[in-house]
Amino acid sequence: MLKSIRKIVNNECPCCDQGKVFRDKSFYFSVGFPKMNTNCPNCNYKFEIEPGFFIGALYVSYAFTIGESIVTYLIAQQFFEKLFDIRIVFIVLPVLILLMFLNIRLSRMVWMYLFKP
Ligand SMILES: [Zn+2]
Repeated sequence: MLKSIRKIVNNECPCCDQGKVFRDKSFYFSVGFPKMNTNCPNCNYKFEIEPGFFIGALYVSYAFTIGESIVTYLIAQQFFEKLFDIRIVFIVLPVLILLMFLNIRLSRMVWMYLFKP
């Protein structure tokens, strides 16, 4: 489990642990839709094992987004007197937009590792 998490955040192939899944300069900070290898550069494992495979990653991405919203809200809420201040929305939204591309990469990695051979 911990080993898989380490491989996921290191952008490693679920099959051979050597090849990289995403071609972006940085796994964490690249902006724009992630550039993904279709096959592993090392072992030629096909990442999209069937058409539409990554649609399921949307559920993982959704879970990440909810989690990040809650954490951001809990941190931001410390700076306001009321439990819910509408200005918190204007803090949570930019954070979610900044994390959007990381979420796509992370959720696809998690999804692949859930169905790894
Ligand atoms: Zn591989």
